[in-house]
Amino acid sequence: MTDQYAVIGNPISHSQSPLIHSEFAKQTGQNIVYDRLSAPLDGFDRVASAFVGQGGKGLNITLPFKGDAFRLAHQLTSRASVCEAVNTLTFKDGVIYGDNTDGVGLVRDIVENLDMPIAGKRVLLLGAGGAVRGVLLPLLEEKPASLTVANRTVEKAQALASQFAPYGAVRAVGYPDLMGEQFDIIINGTSTSLHDELPPIPHGVFAPDALAYDMVYSAGLTPFLKRAQQEKAGMLADGLGMLVEQAAESFFIWRGVKPETRRVMAILREVLN
Ligand code: NDP
Repeated sequence: MTDQYAVIGNPISHSQSPLIHSEFAKQTGQNIVYDRLSAPLDGFDRVASAFVGQGGKGLNITLPFKGDAFRLAHQLTSRASVCEAVNTLTFKDGVIYGDNTDGVGLVRDIVENLDMPIAGKRVLLLGAGGAVRGVLLPLLEEKPASLTVANRTVEKAQALASQFAPYGAVRAVGYPDLMGEQFDIIINGTSTSLHDELPPIPHGVFAPDALAYDMVYSAGLTPFLKRAQQEKAGMLADGLGMLVEQAAESFFIWRGVKPETRRVMAILREVLN
């Protein structure tokens, strides 16, 4: 029997998840269909419940519904519970299981695909919204030398630092505080790239071999990656790898098989270019 999955969001037409999961299914011989579901801003529970009623087995959740999915789940993994956001729901025997695979996706992309260990590195995260919240725990688990969160609204970074204090030290700062400091891994988790803007990082924050990572994926270099290039960062990466790796972890949760991700990244890169 063909099992049904979908990604739900608003807007959703841009989502590449159906392409990614179809490729995973082809590659691993899994019999699934994977669609896009749109829900009105106040209609997440209704659309998700209708999907379950039709026999749906699992959902990926994208903006702005990760909090709604968190509240809908009966059982949460610790990584979903800590960040209070769910991007993967599994429906089984009347129970709704919630997980968050964004952080694992980011860490795998950096450590395995880009071959950059996080352990012992000075890591700087830009932003303090949902994306940053979702990746903090998996980053802390890699044991960086330090983890700094810089945000325009410093209070939001401070709130994250307090919330995650039981899991490891997070330093919260404003952008001007970064003056004169250097980092080995700088991750842009703000939404600036979507508006062709640059987060206000001071010059000189990229250590000589630094990895500059933008969570947004794009055909060309984002303003953040352009700045990193001008400042001679050692490696530049966008969020395409994170997108594919978080999908691979969801696929594994649902189907119990780990798909190979590099080929799917190449296919997706071609589609986006
Ligand atoms: P939120 O709206 O929750 O947060 C936005 C963040 O960006 C805030 O920290 C905000 O700062 C900051 N920001 C916005 N504009 C500016 C600016 N002009 N200057 C400085 N900071 C700014 O968004 P999310 O956290 O949910 O998403 C962030 C990005 O991550 C999105 O672009 C999304 O596409 C991407 N993402 C990628 C994933 C992937 O798989 N590759 C997965 C998840 C997210 P302030 O608090 O001061 O307003």
